[in-house]
Amino acid sequence: MKSESWNNFLFSLIDRREVRKIDRGEIPLQARQELFRRQRVVSSQEKARLEWDKYRRSANCRPVIDALRTAVGIRQRCLYCCDSRSADVDHFIPIGVDFTKAFKWSNFIWVCPECNRRKGKKFPIDSMGVPLIIDPTRVDPWDHLILDTATGYLAPRFVEDDFDPMGEATLDVLSCINFESVTEGRKRIIRRYYEAVNRVLEANGSPRQLAGLMREVKEDEYGVSTWFALRDGAAEDKFLQMKEDFPRCWRAFVRVAMLN
Ligand SMILES: [Zn+2]
Repeated sequence: MKSESWNNFLFSLIDRREVRKIDRGEIPLQARQELFRRQRVVSSQEKARLEWDKYRRSANCRPVIDALRTAVGIRQRCLYCCDSRSADVDHFIPIGVDFTKAFKWSNFIWVCPECNRRKGKKFPIDSMGVPLIIDPTRVDPWDHLILDTATGYLAPRFVEDDFDPMGEATLDVLSCINFESVTEGRKRIIRRYYEAVNRVLEANGSPRQLAGLMREVKEDEYGVSTWFALRDGAAEDKFLQMKEDFPRCWRAFVRVAMLN
């Protein structure tokens, strides 16, 4: 395949963005001004809650919802547990912890009711005041978590004789990240990646089998692709073999995993 058609082929595979690290994007100036106006009249936690409820029910909140939905991808899954049922705007720093961030665009995240309930007012910080719960719009969760590909479980990284505090605190507060329904979903997509990579290797890197692997990236509702393309999973035998024997396939996989 010529490089131009190869590029067209790659771009044809990219039609949505759904990774665990999220680019939150921007909201229109008018929506920013509206948030600023609302925040300015808020002088207490109670007032912030009342104002937020009013705002959330109003049409003014629409640009915020639209922007967050766009950021998390077409299936609009919860940023934490990947549940797709009725996720909604939530505050990364809860109103109960800091009401001055009730109307801050940078404080909004897309979270399901279960994660929202578990998070509640819990907002652990370290001795320097840095939040210990992962905000996927600011940090790459894979810097703090690892994927156990045999069980589908996420676990805190082990760094310098200790568990990563951010990974540990996140999994502690948001234990639903490792609910059976979620780990089974991860296991399913991991198995499909193994099968798809095997087919690429067996077919000597044929574009047809590569397209099959790309389809798996697109079907990856759990953001596992980046684990294999960019992080520790890239060192697993089959993925390493694809990287060494079929570098063009590997680069295509990495590129689509990054953009997906
Ligand atoms: Zn959730």
